[in-house]
Amino acid sequence: MQVDVLTAKELKRTAPVFGQVSFKDHEQVVFCNDKDTGLKAIIGIHNTVLGPALGGTRMWNYNSEWEALNDVLRLSRGMTYKSAITGLNLGGGKAVIIGDAKKDKTPELMRKFGAYVDSLGGKYITAEDVGMETADMDTVREVTPYVTGISEEKGGSGNPSPITAYGVYMGMKASAKYKYGSDNLSGKSVLVQGIGHVGETLVDYLRKEDAKVFISDINEERLEAIKNKYGAIIFEEEDVYAANVDIYAPCALGATVNDDTINRLKAGIIAGAANNQLADEVRHGDILKEKGIVYAPDFLINAGGIINVYAELENYDKKEILHKTENIYNTTLEILSKAEKDNISSHFAALKIAQQRINDRKNQNLK
Ligand code: NAD
Repeated sequence: MQVDVLTAKELKRTAPVFGQVSFKDHEQVVFCNDKDTGLKAIIGIHNTVLGPALGGTRMWNYNSEWEALNDVLRLSRGMTYKSAITGLNLGGGKAVIIGDAKKDKTPELMRKFGAYVDSLGGKYITAEDVGMETADMDTVREVTPYVTGISEEKGGSGNPSPITAYGVYMGMKASAKYKYGSDNLSGKSVLVQGIGHVGETLVDYLRKEDAKVFISDINEERLEAIKNKYGAIIFEEEDVYAANVDIYAPCALGATVNDDTINRLKAGIIAGAANNQLADEVRHGDILKEKGIVYAPDFLINAGGIINVYAELENYDKKEILHKTENIYNTTLEILSKAEKDNISSHFAALKIAQQRINDRKNQNLK
């Protein structure tokens, strides 16, 4: 058997986890490997000061294991701040399963993944994310209690997307109030990029308020369906980022605000559901501020989903979920005002408030 031996120099250069660019003081990273089911997963636990690390499981056909590790590190950190800013007693965690959700996902693989989650004894609680369905969480529930987002028939809170959309809508209205002096979106032009689970419900809210809604998606059939159902307009121009609209709502992928797109943006407000919208949260946050574009921090306004699954742990009802999600309006206004007062980006202002809550709890715990 041949064993690869790295030289001391190579070992120094290879900083696979603690030296990873996305590694930001994560408490624990768990690599899960099961030959029989083909499971290859990584669970990232960023911070548990406020409570157990809750965050969804993403199944994705990553180009490399590095990409998967990077994703889980970034996403789990995002969850820490999302729960902290929303006032939930939860820490931040996330899991990724490497593979094609359409081809590689089996009940055996999901149960094996559940067993890994269970082995952490409640330090990490999972839920659904991209590539996962409520039914998959029901399968995980067969082997561990540390799962949320299970079906309503099984006592869970069901699909979180409509609540996420409601929170994004609240954040968008608050941003409009801040930017234009009124939260009335009637007549405002909004481009919704990605009309999936969240995007569709957002289009519904916006059309009910008589906003002029443009839609963009890679799925042509969906575009036609949403256009006909809600009276939205398919965005036909080449460059989505240069759209001459009041509000840009990224509801598909992360990192759409990047070096390539940022100088083309014409919208006055960015408010959408996608996670990690800013490719570089410091630099791009600052550029948006300089350009006078109001940015509603993604991890604040897309927190409806986590509020929804948190209800399963705390046993609160739909009314309470909606009330907490509606409060995203007030928090968004508070953060936009703080950013202006402190002359910092809205993203940084939100991070500061979230970090303060974590620090306060940590100090309390030390007493
Ligand atoms: P989804 O998979 O249902 O929808 C995504 C949509 O984006 C699909 O219609 C897809 O065709 C489209 N899309 C993909 N690539 C695109 C591209 N390059 N340009 C335009 N459209 C593209 O996902 P979702 O549940 O609606 O979530 C949307 C986003 O919000 C994701 O980034 C997700 O991580 C985030 N988010 C979702 C929730 C939730 O409760 N579902 C909560 C928090 C954050």
